Amino acid sequence: MEQDKKRQEPERNTNPCPLYRKCGGCQLQNMSYPRQLHWKQERVEKLLGNFHTVSPIIGMENPYHYRNKVQAAFALDRSRKIISGVYQASTHRVVPVESCMIEDKTADRIVLTIRKLMKDFRMEPYNEDTGRGLVRHVLVKRGFASGQVMVVLVTASPILPAKNNFVKALRKVHPEITTILQNVNNRATSMVLGEAEKVLYGPGYIEETLCGCVFRISAKSFYQINPIQTEVLYQKAIEMAGLTGKETVIDAYCGTGTIGLIASKQAGNVIGVELNRDAVRDAIVNAKNNKIKNAYFYCADAGEFMSAMADEGETADVVLMDPPRAGSDEKFLTSLAALAPRRVVYISCNPETQQRDLEFLVRAGYRVEAIQPVDMFPHTNHVETVVQLERSLK
Ligand code: SAH
Repeated sequence: MEQDKKRQEPERNTNPCPLYRKCGGCQLQNMSYPRQLHWKQERVEKLLGNFHTVSPIIGMENPYHYRNKVQAAFALDRSRKIISGVYQASTHRVVPVESCMIEDKTADRIVLTIRKLMKDFRMEPYNEDTGRGLVRHVLVKRGFASGQVMVVLVTASPILPAKNNFVKALRKVHPEITTILQNVNNRATSMVLGEAEKVLYGPGYIEETLCGCVFRISAKSFYQINPIQTEVLYQKAIEMAGLTGKETVIDAYCGTGTIGLIASKQAGNVIGVELNRDAVRDAIVNAKNNKIKNAYFYCADAGEFMSAMADEGETADVVLMDPPRAGSDEKFLTSLAALAPRRVVYISCNPETQQRDLEFLVRAGYRVEAIQPVDMFPHTNHVETVVQLERSLK
């Protein structure tokens, strides 16, 4: 049966993107989508299968144009024509991109318009080697549910000549843009955004609806890039948390508070902790805008925060954790074990570091009860997993 199913699936993608090799963003593009899911399932099973059986990965119905955030770099080609696109894998050479099968179509169109306007307005792409030119990157974020669109023009210097006319011209072609910002990045860095930011049009942020809550997205704060699968992921995570309305829940590495705020409707109270100040500010605004009164957010290192909680004799029933790719550090895991919540729901975008952290938690007295992979990043080799752990009674 399994064999038959596999034989029916085309193994190879017969129509890969022409930039497949140069861009390097979609590492699995040579495989058909069902084959990609199979590959990801096997990867998770290999890494986490010893802890528990792995549920079948949840893929996308339509695995295209799912990215709500698009970043473009600019450069001049040999004939001094402005090109925009992505950096060629592990280089700083810009590969020109007209459209991308995983990026939002509106965002791609906006980038092309900006490229054209740059010529009209004589705005040169910034050249890292010579330090000449102005425009380093353009960042576009779009709320799929709200339809709101943010454009961030990242420039090497704060001076943006004819900015009012530029904003006017851009909005004329794209009336769907609801806010435009200028971000100044004058450092030699591979980071896209710099510190200073100026609102050129609109409120300086966009809003998006996710699982019935409204969230503010600013230029700098982290927001999940695949909104369709984020709903699937969060629903799974909250289901695994098994909330009854009474629990104290910690949302560690909470970003703009998304998971915690969605969970707050089914919890006693939620405590979110996050290192990025802008994200915490957004989380507090998000709680207020959704009229959520049982969620509190703190700007701190998640490990230090929980260890302080444990020291003060405070407790939590459930910890939801969603660390960055590097996973959690020993400090976090030690304080988690000291706080000893009954249940931990661990969301991870890197099963390698998750495996390492799960080993620590199992040694500290937790047992894995469920493992659910979700395909948040079709065509790339990234896989997201959510794992439920329960404290064993000692
Ligand atoms: N749960 C959120 C964000 C997950 S991304 C969401 O789904 O939207 C991981 C977040 O961890 C980032 O916002 C990052 O700023 C934060 N972070 C990284 N290291 C941290 C630490 N040591 N303590 C607290 N937060 C941290």
